[in-house]
Formats: sequence, C-alpha cells, structure tokens
Amino acid sequence: MIIIGSGCAGNTAAIYTARANLNPLAIIGHEPGGQLAITTEVENFPGFPEGIQGPDLVENMKKQAERFGAEYIYGSVLEADLRNKPLRLNIDGEWHETRTLIIASGASARLLGLPNEQKLIGHGVSSCATCDGAFYKDRKVIVVGGGDSAMEEANFLTRFASQVTLVHRREHFRASKIMLERARANPKIRFLSSTVVDDVFDVAQNSVTSVKLRNVESGESWTEEVDGFFLAIGHIPNTKPFQGQIDLDHDGYIVSHGGARTNISGVFHAGDVQDRTYRQAITAAGMGCMAAIEAERYLEAEGH
Ligand code: NAP
Repeated sequence: MIIIGSGCAGNTAAIYTARANLNPLAIIGHEPGGQLAITTEVENFPGFPEGIQGPDLVENMKKQAERFGAEYIYGSVLEADLRNKPLRLNIDGEWHETRTLIIASGASARLLGLPNEQKLIGHGVSSCATCDGAFYKDRKVIVVGGGDSAMEEANFLTRFASQVTLVHRREHFRASKIMLERARANPKIRFLSSTVVDDVFDVAQNSVTSVKLRNVESGESWTEEVDGFFLAIGHIPNTKPFQGQIDLDHDGYIVSHGGARTNISGVFHAGDVQDRTYRQAITAAGMGCMAAIEAERYLEAEGH
C-alpha cells in the first residue's frame, strides 16, 4: 500500500491503513505536510477548543501514523504505470510496486509565469502570507488575485505591512461578498483592478524591489516600488504523473468515481487533489479515512 502525500489526507489514510496492518508507505513529496504546514493557527479543526498551529496538527497526525507502523519516505513521484497490477510508481528514479494506491498529493499554489517570478521565490515572492507576512513589517506589499484567498491574504498582511496593494486583472471580483467588503473597508488596502503584473524585479539584488504593472483598459504601464509580492491566484492539483491514466477534469483535478474511487481499480483519491469545493483540513482528513477504508476493502476482496 502506497500513499502519495503527507498532508491531512495522506496522514489520515496512513493512520487508518497502519492500524489495519496494511504497512503503508507514505511519500512525503515536495511540500511536506501539505497546506497545513504553511499556515499558522487552525481554529476550526474539531477537537481543539483553543486552536492548534497547522504544522503541529499535521506533525501530530504523522506521529500517530508512525506509532502504528506507517513508514514515510521523502521523494517525488515522477511517473506512474497504473495500467497493470501491481501498480508501479517511479519515485525519484526508483520503481516501486504496490497493490493499492491512495493519491493524496494535494494542490500547489499557482504562479503567474512572469520572467523573474520563479527566481525571486523566497526572496520577496511568496504564495503564503501566513508564512511570510511577518517579514514585511512597515513595508509595502502587493497581493495578486481576486478570490477569497487574495482578500484573506491582503487582510492578514495589513497586520504587518504599511500598505497592501491588491492587484486584480478585471473589475469583477470572484471573492465572496463578505470577504470583499472586509478588504474594501480596510484602510491599509488599496485596490488596483483591471490591472496585471508584467514582471517583478530585481533578480540582480536577489530581492523584490519593484513590479511592472499595466492597466488592461487604458494600456498604461508603470513601475511601482514594493518589498513583497504575494500570489493568491488559486492552486494546481498535483496530478501530472497520472495524466492519461486517471480520469482528470479540465483543470487537472481527479474525477471521483464515487466515494474515494478513481477510474482505476485499487487506486483511490483523498483531499485537495480531487476536492475543488471544500478544501478544508477536516474534509481532507475525512477523505483520507474514506480512501483507507476503501483500499482495505479492495485488498480484502482481492484476497490479499
Ligand atoms: P479562486 O477563487 O479560484 O480565485 C483565483 C483568483 O486569481 C481569481 O480572482 C482569478 O481571476 C485570479 N487569477 C487566476 N489566474 C490568474 C492569472 N494568471 N493572472 C491574474 N489573476 C489570476 O481561488 P482562491 O481565492 O484561492 O479560492 C479557492 C477556493 O477556496 C474558493 O472556493 C474560495 O472561496 C475558498 N477560500 C475560502 C476562504 C475562506 O472562506 N476563509 C479563504 C480562501 C479561499 P479571475 O477572477 O479573473 O478568474
């Protein structure tokens, strides 16, 4: 039994399958602990009346799985061969075989694809305000996006930054009314709609110093000095190795075939890699549990 992912979904699947004596091997992947590992306080996970830090919550889950014998390894799934049994996964160049697989590989933050963006990640370009916001005390930052994440990040950043400029590519915002109104009411947030970012500078200084902006209606282009550049433009599901084998929707999310089932027998899904609606720690954990139970029943039915 292999579980891909070490977030809430993967860890919960590991707890359940380890307790069922299925000797799960969990692949930690390039974002250890998933989205919770890059949040601060989690106040809505049931059972913690005072709240709990996201990284602690996910680490506790991992420890709980290890207590029952789950094994964790670091690695990236490069390729998958799910057409035959046993199922095969290429993890960092080494092929592993498994009778059943739970895909809990989550979804990663989307980037704009600007020439300098990638080079400045960790040097002023960030997709996690809760992780990096504190570095911008009394500084100017930009948040890109028009959804709930952008509103949430912009509001959060006003705790530190002297000014937060929210840049959105159109006039209409897809954020919920309450989140948008909260951001609009915040005097530290300045809205720049119908505006896109053409690039971020300065790679030579190894830090963000300015951005080039353009108004899409007037065509006017200008440069603004900023210290931080936060992206809140959605997520991309981590399903690349499964393309052409697992049924995916137009954005790459796994299409569920009921419960935690994918179109391939013995392959199950859990968490944000399939869920584009709820995306909560508790729903991911619930899906991890569902996938584990389905995997257990599948193995039993196969006579393993
Ligand atoms: P989202 O709702 O998909 O919004 C993404 C935003 O990024 C959109 O405004 C989109 O613009 C913009 N965008 C996407 N690609 C872009 C590009 N290449 N250049 C410029 N802008 C781009 O994503 P999200 O805000 O991460 O929210 C995801 C889900 O989580 C939603 O269901 C949301 O309600 C939920 N959520 C809830 C909360 C909360 O309730 N506390 C907090 C965060 C997220 P367009 O509008 O023009 O497409």
